[in-house]
Amino acid sequence: MKFCVLASGSSGNAYVIVDGPHKVLIDAGLSPKCIRERLRALSIPDGGWRGFLLTHEHGDHAKYAQEMGIQIGWRAMRLDDRQAQRLYGDVCAYAGDCPHGTTTSTAYSIEGGPDLSVFLATDISGLGETAESMIGHASLIAIEANWDPEMLEACDRDEKAKERSRTSHLSNQKAAEILFGCSAKTVVAVHLSKPCNSPERVRQALEPTVKMFGGKLIVAGDEPICVEV
Ligand SMILES: [Zn+2]
Repeated sequence: MKFCVLASGSSGNAYVIVDGPHKVLIDAGLSPKCIRERLRALSIPDGGWRGFLLTHEHGDHAKYAQEMGIQIGWRAMRLDDRQAQRLYGDVCAYAGDCPHGTTTSTAYSIEGGPDLSVFLATDISGLGETAESMIGHASLIAIEANWDPEMLEACDRDEKAKERSRTSHLSNQKAAEILFGCSAKTVVAVHLSKPCNSPERVRQALEPTVKMFGGKLIVAGDEPICVEV
């Protein structure tokens, strides 16, 4: 099983689980053309879609959900807290609601057995209770590391926008706090704010915790990436 970040950040998000011939899409904040191009760049063949999940309805995650759904033959669905959905074979998706400002964002755990599960949580200000119970046993954790406190203070944004970041998105420090006590092989930091964060700051904040449980930290940037689970 592989976890791929086609794009992550406020200009568009799309994540794909690739498992042999099977593929599951999470979010479609990129156009179908762009998603196809990025899959091609990662040498992932077209077709084999087994599901399409949405974290939440904000444009950078769901703008192209309908269009993409028609192309891959799956209507985008957003699971409810504690709801599970079989995707293919023994692989299931579990969901947990998390706070995201005035709304919620769904964290997903895609599980194919012991040592084979991907946990994804983005656009959150913290983990909900169900999500908290799912993260501990994940083999790969993809988690938002949106802002660095110093860079947020200094960045060229009005106070309202800064407050939105503080109340709707995870700081690097909060992401590190959430990771404390986890045991994943790999942690992928996603959804970095361009003006209010940097890969270096993410590493500084998250690496000590990730190293503590012997994991490897990958910071998603502009290029699409694919990581073995
Ligand atoms: Zn959002």
